[in-house]
Amino acid sequence: MRRLLPAKASAPAIAAATTIAPHVRAVLAAVGEDPDREGLLKTPERVEKAFRFLTRGYQEDVRALLNSALFSVCYDEMVLVKDIEVFSLCEHHLLPFFGKAHVAYIPKDKVVGLSKIPRLVDAFARRLQIQERLTVQIAKAIQEAIRPRGVGVVIEAMHLCMIMRGVEKQNSVAVTSCMLGGFRDQHQTREEFLALIRKKHNGMI
Ligand SMILES: [Zn+2]
Repeated sequence: MRRLLPAKASAPAIAAATTIAPHVRAVLAAVGEDPDREGLLKTPERVEKAFRFLTRGYQEDVRALLNSALFSVCYDEMVLVKDIEVFSLCEHHLLPFFGKAHVAYIPKDKVVGLSKIPRLVDAFARRLQIQERLTVQIAKAIQEAIRPRGVGVVIEAMHLCMIMRGVEKQNSVAVTSCMLGGFRDQHQTREEFLALIRKKHNGMI
């Protein structure tokens, strides 16, 4: 069976601290720049630092993250964390895509600490991704950790690789969803989830 949650040990090893910068310098030269001019002198190191930050999800142990905050409860209504900021890099162009994630589940006997849901989203988003896979990975991680009655994940995002290259209109948003269990089988559950996502904030609620 395919592993859905790579353990820390199977994540790509962290390369030595200065392996990205020399390549960035080569890219600068390749596009016709002078890597030695003042404004670009520190750019390779800056880009390396940025890329390490933007791909730090590879170092996250998703299973440990969720297992550290599982609680037994008698609660079987929908839990929803919506409008979670998502920043990721498309694996085809290494350009950002960003937007909002909405994550819901219906517990069976366990819940995940609420603050872990945005961290889970981040752990998968801070890797080279495609939006479809990111959506499924988040849903399956929750499914595997607490075996709930159902999980629903919707991500709405804008992709700079589409917008900047003029592939799509400026404001087009890509929407992906992954529905498991009750969210897939029960029309009413799915509709409740989608209605809650659409509901705009009005004060606290
Ligand atoms: Zn792309």
